[in-house]
Amino acid sequence: MQFSDFGLSQPLMKAIGEEGYDTPTPIQIKAIPHVLEGRDLLGCAQTGTGKTAAFALPILQYLSLNRKHPRAARSVRVLVLSPTRELASQIADSFTSYGRHTGITNTVVFGGVNQSRQVGALERGIDVLVATPGRLLDLLGQKAVSLAHVEVFVLDEADRMLDMGFIHDVRKITAEVPAKRQTLLFSATMPDDIRTLAAKLLHEPVEVAVTPVASTAETVDQAIYFVEKADKRGLLAWILDDKRIERALVFTRTKHSANRVAEHLDKRGIRAAAIHGNKSQNARERALDGFKRGEVRVLVATDIAARGIDIDQLGLVINYDLPNVPEAYVHRIGRTGRAGAAGQALSFCEAEERPYLADIERLIQMNLGAITQHPFPSSLGVPPKTELTKRHHVRAPQQGSQPGRGGSSQSRPRPAQKQRPSTDGRGAGQQGQSRPAQQHAAQSGRSASQRPAQQQRSATHVSVRPERSSSRAP
Ligand code: AMP
Repeated sequence: MQFSDFGLSQPLMKAIGEEGYDTPTPIQIKAIPHVLEGRDLLGCAQTGTGKTAAFALPILQYLSLNRKHPRAARSVRVLVLSPTRELASQIADSFTSYGRHTGITNTVVFGGVNQSRQVGALERGIDVLVATPGRLLDLLGQKAVSLAHVEVFVLDEADRMLDMGFIHDVRKITAEVPAKRQTLLFSATMPDDIRTLAAKLLHEPVEVAVTPVASTAETVDQAIYFVEKADKRGLLAWILDDKRIERALVFTRTKHSANRVAEHLDKRGIRAAAIHGNKSQNARERALDGFKRGEVRVLVATDIAARGIDIDQLGLVINYDLPNVPEAYVHRIGRTGRAGAAGQALSFCEAEERPYLADIERLIQMNLGAITQHPFPSSLGVPPKTELTKRHHVRAPQQGSQPGRGGSSQSRPRPAQKQRPSTDGRGAGQQGQSRPAQQHAAQSGRSASQRPAQQQRSATHVSVRPERSSSRAP
């Protein structure tokens, strides 16, 4: 499949060429034809799969073929809702890049900055508005924008939108958008609340999915360090002392911890910056720009702040803290190994996080290999491998020295496990390597065919519901 097969207009094809895209990604192959037809769409895809172009290109095509002049004041034709400012900015940048030869206009609005420029940009009407829910509601309340002429409504990262408590805002915004419209909903995960939302918002949608929730990018090498809580900072600095690591994105669970880790690294002479919700928009953009330009080597982020961070060639993600929601692990490591590039994800696991690790391993259906040769091994040693059978009971209280795993899982019958066929072999004569760059070198010879079957499936499906004519306004 080539971009030329979609029948996209010349100005769009030119921009795609200038972006350097050779072939469409799986989500683009699956989604673009349906969006071009005007169908509603429910897309299960993570950021990093090329999903922005999957909706932006057909929307730009529609807008350029159906121009409206003059525009009604303060009106918008396409509304894209995004949970975070960073993602909203990136989506708007993508519309600007892909639409640079079309004359289609866009603007982005989000909170935390003065609104006067945003109000000014909306004054004469705009084709595409990318917005975070809170600021959009403010502007709607002030009548600075009207959604009465929206023809296409996109909800991006809907799962994160609900996680962040935006459901009421989304409902209020949806009430302002005409019922006759095309709706596209993208989400990295498809829990029940997203299905419920989709059922309310979408009309006979086409469902497309790339990379199932439980799968981790095939190009990402993953490994785990079992470490004492107090030694995590030392371990991080020890890893980052390896000068071959040009850039790393480090995840912490809390904002406070992100600040402390960044400060500690800075003191050790490793240029680092923290990015999280308590930082001003300017501070976040400065940190991100510094990281992109290579002035800041390590970006320390919380989950929400990191959503939508799009950095080409990010080779290493480090989970300083393991997330207690296993899906967040998949999102985090999705920051590396993008667009088919090689990436590495290293996770630190202290005693209290061992149950989280088990949850993650069950979700991704894979045991993470332990790196044992490092200066800060856990006094508990390396736990036995997680039994990968999915369980649906409440986690037992932590017991003894190996909370949540060990004894109880050992006594269970072991199903055939899917494991990484590498040097890791947790619990069975580990011989992990000392530093990640070495590990990477050692692992780079492994071909895709050596990966566990579960991982090899790129697991895509398209289920097409009965045809109907476009619900998009003419
Ligand atoms: P997204 O999932 O939209 O955040 O996109 C992730 C990254 O993939 C962005 O840096 C895009 O520029 C890039 N990208 C999108 N589509 C393609 C493509 N067809 N070929 C190569 N890179 C792409």
